[in-house]
Amino acid sequence: MIERRKPLKRPTPVRKRRLKLRRGEPTPEEKENARIICYSRAKGMCQMPFSHTCPGYVPLNGDEWHRGQLAHLKAKRRFGWHEDESTGQRHLWSCPESHRLQHQFGWSGVKPCPKK
Ligand SMILES: [Zn+2]
Repeated sequence: MIERRKPLKRPTPVRKRRLKLRRGEPTPEEKENARIICYSRAKGMCQMPFSHTCPGYVPLNGDEWHRGQLAHLKAKRRFGWHEDESTGQRHLWSCPESHRLQHQFGWSGVKPCPKK
């Protein structure tokens, strides 16, 4: 055991946010543009009605839990951010609740583990 009089301390605090974009990740401006394109294509209507409380129309702006979200058709980690060249579409417009459920349950919309 090393005897220490003081606890080890970092010279700098832990950073809460990354400083640089991930490889292939668009800038915040590019993401906002993609959102606007997606919103106008969907005319603001949620394109994945998984939620029973889905409001249908979700606004472009507003508070975080009520505005629409840009939902990836394919996992962005595997396929990247950019629009699909063949279909021209990689995102769906979604309300926060439907988006959350899609991530939880996948595209089938059913729970992976059935209730007991
Ligand atoms: Zn929805």
